[in-house]
Amino acid sequence: MRNQTIPRPHFYWRIHSTRKELQLNDPVYVRPKSVKEVGAVGRVVDTTAAAFNEPADVKRRCTNDRSLAKPNQNKTSDHRITVQVNGRLVSIYDVPSNNTTTILLTPDTANYRQLAVAHVRHGDKVLEIGCSTGICTSLVLRRMLLLSKENTNDAEAQSEAAAAAEKGDSFQYDGKIIAFDTGSDMMNQTQQALQTEFDNLSAHLPQHNKLSTMSSIHKIDAFADPKGAFSLSTQNNKYPDIVLIDIGGNRELEGVTRMIHWVQCTFLSNLPRVIIIKSKELVRELSPEPEDGSMHEAQSWLMNYLQNRNLSVELLNKPPVYAHPLQAPLVMSPEDDALPICRFHNYHKDGCKRFKNGNECELDHEYCHWCRIPGHVARNCPGT
Ligand SMILES: [Zn+2]
Ligand SMILES: [Zn+2]
Repeated sequence: MRNQTIPRPHFYWRIHSTRKELQLNDPVYVRPKSVKEVGAVGRVVDTTAAAFNEPADVKRRCTNDRSLAKPNQNKTSDHRITVQVNGRLVSIYDVPSNNTTTILLTPDTANYRQLAVAHVRHGDKVLEIGCSTGICTSLVLRRMLLLSKENTNDAEAQSEAAAAAEKGDSFQYDGKIIAFDTGSDMMNQTQQALQTEFDNLSAHLPQHNKLSTMSSIHKIDAFADPKGAFSLSTQNNKYPDIVLIDIGGNRELEGVTRMIHWVQCTFLSNLPRVIIIKSKELVRELSPEPEDGSMHEAQSWLMNYLQNRNLSVELLNKPPVYAHPLQAPLVMSPEDDALPICRFHNYHKDGCKRFKNGNECELDHEYCHWCRIPGHVARNCPGT
């Protein structure tokens, strides 16, 4: 059954807040002072702000935690950095877990770019939808090149990288940015921006780094050509680790919501770790929890918004129609993998009667039985 092979998606929606006070142990990226520095990733270990109650320009310390930079590596050095200016610290939001995708929103471009850079790890594949003139693309490439350099210091890593380069898949080692835009003038500008960035750094980089294997730019509209967009972003069988979405325009909200949904459906079998979105209008629509900027209702809101406007992406695999709901296979809730998803709720035209009559059904009514994305039932599932 195809349901058994579908992973269990968890979408964890957050709004980035620069006003949020950083707490002890928060993961952060320290923006470097020069373009040739990679910038440290670590956790806050000291906040003098609390002690002295100074709102701005406080000293903060963080460790340089390598396990955050590369999840499989457990080297944690106790290298401490004191940061004088608050603006140099960028929160890292993604949760290192196989089935959680963090959906991170910000209304403005400056924060969008910083968040994109801060979340890149060594070897990541990044899909940027709406690269425009390539400013964000170049910043991501810079970070990839510097991470590659940092990770190619020892002999073992050097031979691993060289071997990968010989096979023509050095991006598997170094990372890769794939940029989409719909305008051809944007392609040229982005290509130029990437070339400039690469040339500026090339004297300091390992020999095997090549711009052509670490980046590709495409003029494509994912809505008009969803299959083409999928195959361009999954070449060499590697799905994106990070997806960046910045598609403004006069119907921003429609475009952004459809694109988020397209990403969720298209990469469902191997979801990105984090989706970072710049959208003033989407941020205005959603109301985050004041403590941590999380939004538990956002996924349901998204599905309802798309359904009400008939904006779902046309996708191939719709759920089957069953003569009786109990003909559908038993599928468990992604929450605990133990509680069955209510099949009447998902497949009966009247839904689950017990659930409607006041919560007496103890089965799961939150997740879709077909795609396991919360917020809709299989009968209304946009497909996978
Ligand atoms: Zn039920
Ligand atoms: Zn569904």
